[in-house]
Amino acid sequence: MGTLIKNGTVVSSTYSQKLDVLIEGERIIKVAPSIDPTGHTLVDATNLLVMPGGIDVHTHLDMPFGGTTSADDYTTGTQAAAVGGTTTVIDFALQSQGHTMAEALTTWLAKSNNKACIDFSLHMAVTDLDPNKTGSTAAGLAELEDMVAFGITSFKLFMAYPGVLMIDDGLMFQVMQKAASLNALCCIHAENGSAIDIVVAQTIAAGHTEPHYHALSRSPKAEAEATHRSIALADMAGCSVYIVHLSNEDSLAALKFMQARGAKALAETCTQYLVLSIEEQMPGKSWDEAKFVFTPPLREKWNQDPLWAALADGSLSVVSTDHCPFRMDQKALGKGDFRKIPNGGPGIENRLQILWHFGVNQGRITPEKFVDLASTAPARIFGMANQKGSIKEGLDADILLWDPNVDYTISAATQCMATDYSMFEGWKVKGNAAKVFSRGELVVDNTTQPGKFLGATGRGKFLKREANAGGLT
Ligand SMILES: [Zn+2]
Repeated sequence: MGTLIKNGTVVSSTYSQKLDVLIEGERIIKVAPSIDPTGHTLVDATNLLVMPGGIDVHTHLDMPFGGTTSADDYTTGTQAAAVGGTTTVIDFALQSQGHTMAEALTTWLAKSNNKACIDFSLHMAVTDLDPNKTGSTAAGLAELEDMVAFGITSFKLFMAYPGVLMIDDGLMFQVMQKAASLNALCCIHAENGSAIDIVVAQTIAAGHTEPHYHALSRSPKAEAEATHRSIALADMAGCSVYIVHLSNEDSLAALKFMQARGAKALAETCTQYLVLSIEEQMPGKSWDEAKFVFTPPLREKWNQDPLWAALADGSLSVVSTDHCPFRMDQKALGKGDFRKIPNGGPGIENRLQILWHFGVNQGRITPEKFVDLASTAPARIFGMANQKGSIKEGLDADILLWDPNVDYTISAATQCMATDYSMFEGWKVKGNAAKVFSRGELVVDNTTQPGKFLGATGRGKFLKREANAGGLT
């Protein structure tokens, strides 16, 4: 007795075909042209696309930042993800300087314990290899081994936020060498934080304190420089590297330059950089533009076409959200000083809608590419392809029934995310999640109970991931 999804079109990263999908318990047990329905619960997927559930590899739930905490915790954040068709997230545990990675892991597992509603994993952000001030990085490097043994096989390294999260090139290089030996992946926030902080201080000194100047003070060149530098260092160390939230054409050129020279370099962009711009969303007219203060900032609109082209040609591998939501009362901490505006925007719920509407509907990417960018590539790159990311026998039954013909209007009034605004307020899109299964359980049915999470709070499991060097050989 299983659940049989019948009459739908299975879309994988490489093909689309009319196929039935049989779920038993938490797994997909059969994918075939016509499966006998006898004894099974039937789910009719006529006119629907049957896809692997989305995987968002860049989220910040319950994250402390600048004296406040991101508005979505593991419950609201993962429920919003599921309502939008995402069934797995990878969040970030942040090591604090002077503390061990083990402490960070304990803290983040406590945040998610009994709260996560879909499956999740963690990257470890490494900020200090000698937290106990012994004069040696040996213990810190040994902790990287502990993390990989625990199933945390990707490390985040910050080249921005000096004094808080940024590490210097020597430390970054040591982590990369160790990661290479462990087959782990280094994820890079690529911005030249030292130079940016000088520009920021000069901007404030000149009296420019509005949200608009957050964007102007973080040059695309500072991102491109750090993109090139981090990939060059990773190449020297023999390490696979993944640039997070690549936002502009300059950085894309740096990425492609190193990819063409054989560096093991991958990158994601995020939904917001594909459809929002400094001209349209933050022209410098109001405080309201604080909604769009995140890092890297929005860029000039002309950058969008090259980013879409890079998704289509494979130089960019993934679209994530960098979901880091703050309400406007939290953003208000930075009224009068853009440096104090909590950085981040809400997007976890809208990623697939935006990617489908502006990608597939506008002919920029195929439905198969959509599946690859949203699910299959993230699973492969982050060592989860044996559990997630495909409609395949033996994998977890994380299944998204996608309705490509339904109209949907994005609005803060109806969203599940815990912010009082949407970055896409009032936008009309065609294409939305109809039903969402997580490990075989129907957790969202937008056709009968729109915007509701139907599963139990805390049902999400921590995923241990393989160390596979980003799937690059
Ligand atoms: Zn982030």
